[in-house]
Amino acid sequence: MDSGALEFQAFDAVNNEGASGYLTIDLAAIRKNYEALSSMLAPARAAAVVKADAYGLGAEDVSQALYDQGCRHFFVAQFMEAQALRPILPQDAQIFVLNGLQPGTETACAKTGIIPVLNSRTQLRQWHVAASSLKRSLPAVLQFDTGMSRLGVPPQDRVALATDLKAFTNVEILFIMSHLASADEIDNGQNADQLAEMARITEEFAGFDISFSNSGGIFLGGDYHGVLARPGIALYGGIPSGQALNPLRPVVSLHVAVVQTRTVPAGARIGYGGTHVAAGEMRLATIAAGYADGLPRSLSDRGAVYHDGVRLPIVGRVSMDSITIDVTALPEGTLTLGSLVEVLGPHQTLEDIAEAAGTISYEILTRLGHRYARRYR
Ligand SMILES: *Cc1c(COP(=O)(O)O)cnc(C)c1O
Repeated sequence: MDSGALEFQAFDAVNNEGASGYLTIDLAAIRKNYEALSSMLAPARAAAVVKADAYGLGAEDVSQALYDQGCRHFFVAQFMEAQALRPILPQDAQIFVLNGLQPGTETACAKTGIIPVLNSRTQLRQWHVAASSLKRSLPAVLQFDTGMSRLGVPPQDRVALATDLKAFTNVEILFIMSHLASADEIDNGQNADQLAEMARITEEFAGFDISFSNSGGIFLGGDYHGVLARPGIALYGGIPSGQALNPLRPVVSLHVAVVQTRTVPAGARIGYGGTHVAAGEMRLATIAAGYADGLPRSLSDRGAVYHDGVRLPIVGRVSMDSITIDVTALPEGTLTLGSLVEVLGPHQTLEDIAEAAGTISYEILTRLGHRYARRYR
C-alpha cells in the first residue's frame, strides 16, 4: 500500500464528522518549504506572502507557523488583511500592504504599525502628511514599476520622486521593491529586462536594500534575490516554474465525500444539460463538492478525482454543490455513501487540476473556499 492509500485509509476512518469534504493543510510542509527557500536565498531572507487568507489556507495559522520558523516579514494585499493579522503576530514581525496606502487608512495604519508599500508619489505624500500630523517618522516600502505596468512608481515619475524623498524626511524607507511579471518562465526575456531596469533604479536611488523576487524569481538565481524575497505560492507547494528539481513539498490535500452511487444504462444522460451520454452501462458516484467549493466548472467532462490511485473521470457538468464521477474502473461496491475520494493529494497535484481546468494553481488554491472541514497538521 503506498503512502497515498495509507493517507486515504486514515481519512476514511474519520469521515464520521459529517463534513462533505476535508481540506488538509500541512503546516509542517509549509515550514519545510520556507526552510528550503531560505537556504536557496541565503544570505538574502525570505518573507512570506500571506495575502488572500494565505492563498486560501488560513492566514492566521500559516503566519504563526512561519513566524515560528523564523519569518519576520509578512506581505498582504489589503489594509484590512493586515489589520486582522497584526494582533496575531508578535511585534517584531513586520506586516506590509502590497496594494499601497488607501486614503482614509493613514492614521489607523500608522497607529497599528502596519507598513504600506508606497506605489506612487501621491501615496508617499499622504504618508508624509500622516507622519507630520503624528509628529513622528513613519516606515514604508517604496515600490517601482520595472515593466509590469501594474503597481509602483512609473519610470517618468522617478526624478520628481527623488526630490520628494529628500523633502519628506519623516518617511523612513525600509527598502525598495519591484515585482516580476514573468518569473514563472525562466527563459522569458522580460526577466532580464526588469532586472536591468532595477539596476538603473538602484543607481538613481543609491543605498536602499532591494526586494525583487516572488516564488518564481527565487529560481532565477542570485541576481534576482536582493535582500528579501517574497514567496507566496512556493510556500504552499505550488511549483513556480517548470523546475526539474522541485525542492518544495505539497501542502494541501482535499478529500470529498460520496453522497450517492448508481448504475446507469447506455444512453443515460448525466448532469445539467445532459451533455454526457453514457456510451455503455456505467457506475457513477456523486461527490459533495462543486464550483461553489472551488472546483471550476471548466473541469466538466475534463477533470478527474482519484481513489486508491485509480483515476475516476468527471462526467457531465460540474454543478454548484456536486460532481458526478465515473467509478466503473473500481470494483463494484468500493465506493459507498460517505466514502472519500482524493481531489488533491498524492495522485493529483494543484498543477494537475489547474491544467485540467485551464487555469493556474494560484486560482485553484485561492478559491477552495470555506465549506470544507479544515485540518491543520
Ligand atoms: C502575490 C505577490 C507575490 C507572491 O507571488 P508568488 O508568485 O505567489 O510567489 C510577491 N510579490 C508581490 C508584489 C505580489 O503581488
